[in-house]
Amino acid sequence: MTGKPDKNCIFCKIVKGEIKGDKIAETDSFFAMLDINQDIKGHTLVIPKKHFVTLFDIPDKLGNEMLKFTKKVAGDLLDKKLGDGFNLIMNNLSVAGQVVMHAHMHVIPRNEGDGIRFLTRV
Ligand code: 5GP
Ligand code: ZN
Repeated sequence: MTGKPDKNCIFCKIVKGEIKGDKIAETDSFFAMLDINQDIKGHTLVIPKKHFVTLFDIPDKLGNEMLKFTKKVAGDLLDKKLGDGFNLIMNNLSVAGQVVMHAHMHVIPRNEGDGIRFLTRV
């Protein structure tokens, strides 16, 4: 929550290079990598290098930078023809589907007729 690395956190381990993560873009403060689950081709995660748990924990200035970086990552996905549009999704806390408790944004390329639906009841 404080921005300090969490030794049990998978994304912190990727930041430190302890486990592999294919970074597709990077700044001093953030990196983007393909989600391990590529059910949706190009599904990308934007991840602050510092360990924050949710959006609430990310300082405003860094949050603004994260949005700017996210725009760049989304634009690159569209440039690569992975989608004609995209969704941004951020799961905050377990009840909202957050599994990795290190804040991150999902960038999900979308295409006509892809059949993907979010936020429906099951
Ligand atoms: P959450 O549900 O926490 O918002 O999403 C976490 C995401 O991280 C999931 O979509 C999951 O597939 C992805 N993920 C979990 N572990 C790894 C990993 O080691 N590498 C990569 N590239 N993605 C991961
Ligand atoms: Zn972490």
